[in-house]
Amino acid sequence: MDSDVLIEWYRETARDLPWRRPGVSAWQILMSEIMLQQTPVVRVEPIWREWVARWPVPSAMAAAPQGEVLRAWGKLGYPRRALRLHECAQVLAREHGDEVPADVDVLLGLPGIGAYTARAVACFAYGQRVPVVDTNVRRVVARAVHGRAEAGNPATRDLGETEALLPAHIARAATFSAALMELGATICTARNPACDNCPLPSCAWISAGRPASDVVRRVQKFEGTDRQARGRLLDVLRDSTGPVERVRLDLAWTRDPGQRDRALDSLLLDGLIEQTSDGLFALAGEGSR
Ligand code: SF4
Repeated sequence: MDSDVLIEWYRETARDLPWRRPGVSAWQILMSEIMLQQTPVVRVEPIWREWVARWPVPSAMAAAPQGEVLRAWGKLGYPRRALRLHECAQVLAREHGDEVPADVDVLLGLPGIGAYTARAVACFAYGQRVPVVDTNVRRVVARAVHGRAEAGNPATRDLGETEALLPAHIARAATFSAALMELGATICTARNPACDNCPLPSCAWISAGRPASDVVRRVQKFEGTDRQARGRLLDVLRDSTGPVERVRLDLAWTRDPGQRDRALDSLLLDGLIEQTSDGLFALAGEGSR
């Protein structure tokens, strides 16, 4: 893959995202990476700005109650991410001098930090030459290098394959990683790649005549799912100033009582909500107020 061309394209056309600007700290980049994992940029940006102002360093978030963090997470979805980030902030404040470590292995030992996030922070916050592999990168590599329409399931070889593409020069490698992700997010998209606008001079998938995908795509609906039910129940608790009675939750999801019970159980199990000694329900950490 022609790294020079891709880096040049990135420098000229990359989206001006606030977490990419100079002066943004590793902690603030880490917050953006956690939020962006399962939520689009447009929904992340306003919440990220609020969080940076509210919790500019890990110790600021660590001092906040869990419920406050869950409330501030709003409707970004998959709220366990917020709880894990809160845990991570506590570890950073307590054991790492209120700083985000630069070492991938140390990062991997932090709560809620997986293979992608650890390398994204090492690369984007500290400029390290490490492969940063998300869904977008896997798709670009599958197409441009291997001539496949889609990447298929994640595999351990993904890291090695992406690392092999990185330029030797450290600073260029970090920009190349950002460029690869940007290409997958904006041009080489899953459903309609804009190949006419692609900066890459050659692409194995195009050369192979655009072979069809052999991956069976599962359409993920949201309406009526347990995830939607969980979200509705959490909304009730987020919008209330204290613990609520069970009936308030029952009214928030009336279409299927069995599903509602399941959603409630899973929220309790995940530690996102808790039950008070007198049987009321509250956001995590707010049951004893
Ligand atoms: S030519 Fe099309 S498929 Fe190939 S990398 Fe570019 S956008 Fe993706």
